[in-house]
Amino acid sequence: MRVKLAKQAENKQPHKYKLLITALVLGILAVIIGASFTGVCAISVGGEIIAYGENKKQVDKIINRLTSEKSQVLGQEVTVGKDLELKTTKSSKEPLNEQELYAVLAGKVDFVTRGVLVKIKGSPELQFKNRATADSFFQKLKERYRTGANCEVSIAEKTEIIEQEININELDTIERALQLAQQGKDKPIRHIVQENDTLWDLAVTYDTSVEELMRLNPETSENLQLGQEIITSGYAPLLTVISEFELTQEEKIPFETEYINDSSLPRGTSKTIRQGEPGIKKVTYRVTAQNGKITEKKIVTEDVIKEPQAGIVNRGTKFVLSFRGGGALVWPASGSVTSRLGPRWGRSHTGIDIDAGYGSQVWAAGPGRVVSAGWNGGYGQMVAISHGNNVVTRYAHLSSINVKAGQTVDSRQFIGRVGTSGNTTGPNLHFEVLINGAQKNPLNYL
Ligand SMILES: [Zn+2]
Repeated sequence: MRVKLAKQAENKQPHKYKLLITALVLGILAVIIGASFTGVCAISVGGEIIAYGENKKQVDKIINRLTSEKSQVLGQEVTVGKDLELKTTKSSKEPLNEQELYAVLAGKVDFVTRGVLVKIKGSPELQFKNRATADSFFQKLKERYRTGANCEVSIAEKTEIIEQEININELDTIERALQLAQQGKDKPIRHIVQENDTLWDLAVTYDTSVEELMRLNPETSENLQLGQEIITSGYAPLLTVISEFELTQEEKIPFETEYINDSSLPRGTSKTIRQGEPGIKKVTYRVTAQNGKITEKKIVTEDVIKEPQAGIVNRGTKFVLSFRGGGALVWPASGSVTSRLGPRWGRSHTGIDIDAGYGSQVWAAGPGRVVSAGWNGGYGQMVAISHGNNVVTRYAHLSSINVKAGQTVDSRQFIGRVGTSGNTTGPNLHFEVLINGAQKNPLNYL
């Protein structure tokens, strides 16, 4: 700067005296300026000056103090990073005193140590102060998923431990690393919507809640679109710990129930003769779990300790008419009731007429035995079924008959078709219920 000024002066002032005076003035000026530019130690980090110290010796002393303090705290040697530069220079800046310098250097200088970097699937993820700490981290992580003495624990991902210089501020503690390993850094797990996926299904599959899924996917409506991407978790664990172990547990063996027909019990009722009892078996599984969640369970051995005892239940087969609502009789045809039991045209109507179309099906109103099937005077083509206990049902005016006398029928069995045979004004099913030979109102038993 001074040289430049002098040169400019020379060029602009060729005159001898003026030149001399100018040189003299400039010389005095230089002495004054020079006196204010004292020798200091410029401290820079990464090329940027962060402070000035009195001299290199003073700065070195403070740095040594800092590295020795930090070494003591960390329990191993700490040095300053490569990007710290000390340079003796002249500057008008006031150098900092030791106390100020200590504070600035402590905050702005990188302190490094020979630590280890842990790469997971090739990507740098964790940094420890040394290999022993990294080993201890892996050990502790595995311990968290060890279920017992015979549990084999391994880590699914390929990991590498590389020794290198690490900024001490970026070192992971074992606790922090364990948290990251299990909860992961911010790496959302995504799911592509498949056919029939619902938010509820995804919540179950990914062990979360519908509310959480809605929170993670604010744009999503409840109607998922095929192929849509859904974030199912905010975090993906850094590491997958696989535990394999044997699990032995006692399990119940379900019992079976044997049903025996009992003609002394009313139909629709049953009586337990012997209570079934579950058996007990000892099952040993080979279990595989990922981060504590069971992903596979294979049976290794299965020993029956106690056989199950089958239950015995007697099931009633006796047909008993129940009065209204018991449901012993079923409707023999589908249609509305057009004529009820009672006086009709000066005579007594002995049953009900069901308005079913010509040729439509007629069914047995209950299980029993066909006692007659054929022409019966004014009834026309008629079927009569005895249900036991002196209960008989009759089906009249049929157009065709599909059963024979002596044959047993089940409830709802097809027995013939609606017609107009006998005394009838049109196609309908005339249906009667007789108990001890007396006509009863069928509507009371349907
Ligand atoms: Zn009738």
